[in-house]
Amino acid sequence: MKADLKSMTREELTSYICALGEPSFRGGQIFRWLHRGAGGFEEMSDLPKSLKQKLEQEAFITTLKIYGRYQSALDETVKYLFELEDGNIIETVAMKYHHGYSLCISSQVGCRMGCSFCQSTKGGLIRCLTAGEILDQVLKVQADLGTRISNIVLMGIGEPLDNFEQVHRFLINVNDPEGIQIGYRHISLSTCGLVPGIERLAELELPITLSISLHATSDPIRSEMMPVNRKYNLAQLIGACRKYQQHTGRRISFEYAVIAGVNDRRADAERMAALLDGLLCHVNLIPVNPIENGVYRPPSRKNILTFQEHLINLGLNATIRRTLGSDISASCGQLRRQAVAKGGSAL
Ligand code: SAH
Repeated sequence: MKADLKSMTREELTSYICALGEPSFRGGQIFRWLHRGAGGFEEMSDLPKSLKQKLEQEAFITTLKIYGRYQSALDETVKYLFELEDGNIIETVAMKYHHGYSLCISSQVGCRMGCSFCQSTKGGLIRCLTAGEILDQVLKVQADLGTRISNIVLMGIGEPLDNFEQVHRFLINVNDPEGIQIGYRHISLSTCGLVPGIERLAELELPITLSISLHATSDPIRSEMMPVNRKYNLAQLIGACRKYQQHTGRRISFEYAVIAGVNDRRADAERMAALLDGLLCHVNLIPVNPIENGVYRPPSRKNILTFQEHLINLGLNATIRRTLGSDISASCGQLRRQAVAKGGSAL
């Protein structure tokens, strides 16, 4: 099998190049070319011809193709569908904020977590993305927009902690001073609550923002919405969050999709305040986005505001997420699903 250079860290690439009998500085040169978006070895003008030929035979460069590009007419959100080399399709969304572009990237093709409100998990997990495929989303969007991405959220399709090794390599690479160089503080990782993964991430002590998809404040309700809760309950999840905070000092974000009659009552607010007591955190309220054949509906604006007010009165820091790109289905696997349903080359 050919070597996947874009999925290697600079250190791994350097060892690989040395093992080919080349001087170690070639590793850094190739890393810089790859992370500036070079699509082929012939572009790497400072490499000797013999090395380029050797790499041509032994290695490859992951390259995503833009399969669809959708620009919102309401704001500057741009949604991309990318085609992977095996024909699978993933989604990436660029959102413009006052501080620059924030990019929401995918970590898997599909997802096996089975959350009842989420479109991305309906077809199950097809496969994990490689570190190179995760990174190439950033490179391709930067090239397409002609500008730098300033923030990254691992909140697209997939469960990043279910693809730990590749996501970890991606984080090292996207932060590398010789590469795209996005600071860890400008990166968020969102998880449905895989406790061992959160603990492992805490031990790495990377100052990235951990975002938890909370969505419910009692075990019976959360287990019904999110099967992961049957394995790792709320007490274990919040325990892992406390550990993460002790190791990194970072404030934790909690995502909460507000659903009429399910998790938007005063008692939910009170349980949330008790659960998150003593944690430095922020609660992000998201009116649930109804999916195909789904039963969940968002509460009225008035009821969401009342729920937010309860949380604030209980001492929590809670905001309501602004919706971007709603005219281009810019959330939660909707677009990939439509493309798959239309039977493109997508699986
Ligand atoms: N697997 C990770 C990241 C992907 S999901 C996680 O669970 O966090 C990205 C975010 O969108 C999560 O917070 C998820 O719970 C939320 N989400 C999924 N479907 C949604 C819907 N229909 N309405 C509102 N939020 C949704």
